[in-house]
Amino acid sequence: MSEQKWTYEAIKELYNTPLLELVFRAASVHREHHNPREVQISTLLSIKTGGCPEDCAYCPQAARYFTDVEENELMSVEQVRTAATRAKSLGSSRLCMGAAWRNVEDGEEFDHVLDLVRTVNELDMEVCATLGMLTERQAQKLRDAGLYAYNHNLDSSEDYYKEIISTRGYEDRLKTLDNARKANLTLCSGGIIGMGESIDDRCKMLETLASLDPVPESIPINALVSVEGTPMENVQPISIWEMIRMVATTRIVIPTTTVRLSAGRTEMSIEGQALCFMAGAGSIFAGNKLLTTPNPEMFKDLEMFHLLGLTPTEPYAKHEKPAVSEKEEVPETEDKKHKWSRPKHRIEANVKYTKLGKQRRKAQQNTDAEKKLKESKAQS
Ligand code: SF4
Repeated sequence: MSEQKWTYEAIKELYNTPLLELVFRAASVHREHHNPREVQISTLLSIKTGGCPEDCAYCPQAARYFTDVEENELMSVEQVRTAATRAKSLGSSRLCMGAAWRNVEDGEEFDHVLDLVRTVNELDMEVCATLGMLTERQAQKLRDAGLYAYNHNLDSSEDYYKEIISTRGYEDRLKTLDNARKANLTLCSGGIIGMGESIDDRCKMLETLASLDPVPESIPINALVSVEGTPMENVQPISIWEMIRMVATTRIVIPTTTVRLSAGRTEMSIEGQALCFMAGAGSIFAGNKLLTTPNPEMFKDLEMFHLLGLTPTEPYAKHEKPAVSEKEEVPETEDKKHKWSRPKHRIEANVKYTKLGKQRRKAQQNTDAEKKLKESKAQS
């Protein structure tokens, strides 16, 4: 069901409401639609790290930039079961598995991901995945394996998206969300603030999310974590007040969604996070890493919950657990014909850091080769 129709002008007016009044309004809306004492703990697990062909300016997993991220192949079923069991024992009711892919490709790797989904579903956790662009048939296969939610962030407004990514278009994002929705998956889609976007961009992104029918069940709000080696390495962190404002505005514009406090929590004090919960955040991501960027330790989060009188949400509090169907062949539809876009417009910072990445990798290879030579000389 779609909610109240919002224009971006109305969202902007709301966003600019005096802060305490905005928080009060958001807290009131939150109480009408959610239990304010419950906050869901979700764990984000990188099941395949690094080596991504895309050029997202904020992302250390993009293969073209030179960062500290170590590439890892897909995790095994046992590794994922162990990580999920541990996360569950520490209060997580949702596990989001992330793979650094441009889009899902049919084949062995995707079949393995389906096994991972079945494994986590068996543990009675909400299973979410973020695997890049997705066709309707692939979404259906994930749903049949027991996937609960698909994450695909809009990141920012359509205009600003072009300033940060040149390897795919905004319409691809919307198409993937639509495909996931057609397969009856719940949607998780939000954005990142602090990438240099304007307030207009933030409000336009919320306008787009609010226009989806039905609206996403989950909206992560991330604060940029600038990582060395990416085009955004020198961007300064945003203030907590901007985060609170964004959480509160999202809460009011889309009252039924779960607003998720996502990346950037290491920079936030407990007081700042408490205000975010007051303003309607209903979930945190736990674990000491968020894909590849730092996150507070799980035990610290549990202490914060105790201090603030919060309890972790049970799984499937809002929607039923998806049944796992037998491995039926989902018929091929128009899927095969679909081509994802490659706009390839020029983003100066991305081009510069791609060149720097090449140079730094070359220098690293030379250093490694020299080191090896010295070691072998010392041995002989
Ligand atoms: S954000 Fe996702 S798609 Fe973009 S470079 Fe990182 S892993 Fe790839």
